Formats: sequence, C-alpha cells, structure tokens
Amino acid sequence: MQEKTKAKILDGKLVANKVRDGLKVRVEAILSQRLRTPGLAVVLVGDNPASQIYVKNKIQACKKVGIESFLVQFPADVPQDDVLASIAKLNRSEAVDGILVQLPLPKHLATDVVLDSVDPDKDVDGLHPLNLGYLAAGRQGLRPCTPQGVMVLLEHYNIQVNGAAAVVIGRSNLVGKPLSLMLLEKHATVTICHSRSQNLEEIARCADILVVAAGRECMVKQSWVKPGATVVDVGIHKRVVPGVFGAGESEIVGDVDFQEVASVASFITPVPGGVGPMTIAMLLSNTVYAYEQRAASK
Ligand code: NAD
Repeated sequence: MQEKTKAKILDGKLVANKVRDGLKVRVEAILSQRLRTPGLAVVLVGDNPASQIYVKNKIQACKKVGIESFLVQFPADVPQDDVLASIAKLNRSEAVDGILVQLPLPKHLATDVVLDSVDPDKDVDGLHPLNLGYLAAGRQGLRPCTPQGVMVLLEHYNIQVNGAAAVVIGRSNLVGKPLSLMLLEKHATVTICHSRSQNLEEIARCADILVVAAGRECMVKQSWVKPGATVVDVGIHKRVVPGVFGAGESEIVGDVDFQEVASVASFITPVPGGVGPMTIAMLLSNTVYAYEQRAASK
C-alpha cells in the first residue's frame, strides 16, 4: 500500500504559469509601444532526443508569452568554428536578446569555449563566467534558470530561507553551485554536498531546506529528511515500469523518493511539475530582462 502524502506540494506548474502571465503583460506593453519583439535564439547541436524535446518545449513557451524564437540547428559533427561563428552572428543581431546553447554538446566541442563566446548581456542561461561572477559577488546579472526557479518557488510559498539550514546535494555549475550562492544571498546557512561527501544522510537530516540535484534516481529516502523540512527535487529521470501485460510504460521520477519523503516533509516539489516548469519560466523571464536591459542602455 502507498504511504499517505502529508507534505504540501510546491506546485511548479502553477507558479510558472503565474510568472508567464506576468511576462505576457510585459511583452504586450513593449509591443503596444510599437517596439520590436523580444527574441530568443536557441542553438541545438546534434540529434539527442531529450535535447530536441527540451528545445521544442522552450520554443513553444516563447510563443505563449509573445517572445520570438530563432532555432539554429547544426549536425552532430559540426566543426567548433562554425558554432562559434554562428554565435558571433547572434551576438551582433539586433533581433536577438537571449542566446541559449542547449547542453550537452557533442564531445568534440569544448563546452566552456562555446559558452564563453555568448555575449554576457544575452546569456539567458546565466552560465557565462562573468554572470556567474556577478552572482558570486551578489551583484545583478543574468542568473542560471534552474536555481533561480527554485528560489522563486520557495518565495512564492513563503518558505523561510533567512536563517534556515539549507543543504544542497550537487555542486554543478548549472544547478548546485549557483543555487548555494542564491540561498546564501538570502541568508541561509548553506552546506554543499557532492559525490565525495561523507555522511550524506546525516547531513541531509539537519536541513530545514533540502535541495537535491545529484542526478541519482530516488536517492533521498524518508530517513534522510528532518520531519517538517522543505524538500526540493531537481532531478529528472525517465524510467520504464512494467505494464500490466508486460509492455513497458515510462514515467518521470526525481532524485527523491517522493512517496516516502512526502510523508515526513512539510513541503515538497513533485517530479514532474515542480522545478522543471520553473526552469523554462526563468528562461523566458531572463529573455525579457535581457531585452529591457538592452533597451535601457540605448
Ligand atoms: P551533474 O551531473 O552536472 O551534477 C551532479 C552533482 O551531483 C555533482 O556535483 C556530483 O558531485 C553530485 N553527485 C552525484 N552523485 C552523488 C551522490 N551519490 N551523492 C552526492 N552527490 C552526488 O548534474 P546537474 O546538471 O547538476 O543535474 C542534476 C540533476 O538535475 C539531473 O537529474 C538533471 O537531469 C536534473 N536537472 C533538472 C533540471 C530541471 O529543470 N528540473 C535542470 C537541470 C538539471
């Protein structure tokens, strides 16, 4: 029998819709002044099926708020210089406010070199070292979408970050590291864990806010969570479950064992429907922000 859910759901779909509604109003205000439409360019290399779905979702989301999107596609064996030349062109384009390079890139491309070539003012993924530096210094700038989405979600549900013990499992540049800086900025006491951390379960159990971005399916169990804690699950995994007649059906799960953990936590994000929708909403938000910053600097 499944355990009963006790925790309140941090509904990423609902909050992302709210963010999108706000952005739509801002884009309509821009267009009502007969100004040009904000634009997002997405650079996709190769034919990774997951990347193709993510890119399709991002382009659809742009449409919903009135942002124009430009898809720049390359075959998997594209020479790096061609990608860099294309990004240089997007950097110069008046119609483009945001540039997103869909990761992961094929192995022969140097991810750092490609990301560094994006104009920091158009770096809507917030992964350029200049923007990551601004974040570390507590200054304004474009910030990585997933951690920013987590912060907006916590804020929406009035989760107290100030003074809280926050534990972040994962230290990637994409999620764990920037999220730790954002929690610190909001006055949490932050512990960052990673694949070489000792006593992970014990550390996790001290958290008022536990964020899991380790990329390990259902790693966090009930015994890892302090009763009453807020648990944010960043992980996304597709797994095949046997169907009634043996045929496999797929389902999406996270880094947290939802059924177990929801019975002790106060708040929890579901997967899907938690952090994922927030990531896309923040990409749109960064694009509109980049547009407004560029317009203000002219
Ligand atoms: P990553 O592989 O770059 O980093 C994983 C981090 O977790 C590393 O720092 C590693 O040290 C740590 N780690 C790995 N195994 C561990 C273990 N057993 N114990 C403790 N720490 C461990 O991954 P990422 O890009 O940061 O993504 C993490 C997860 O979040 C993945 O499942 C990814 O698919 C998902 N993700 C979701 C979104 C979203 O929008 N919801 C966005 C980005 C990533």
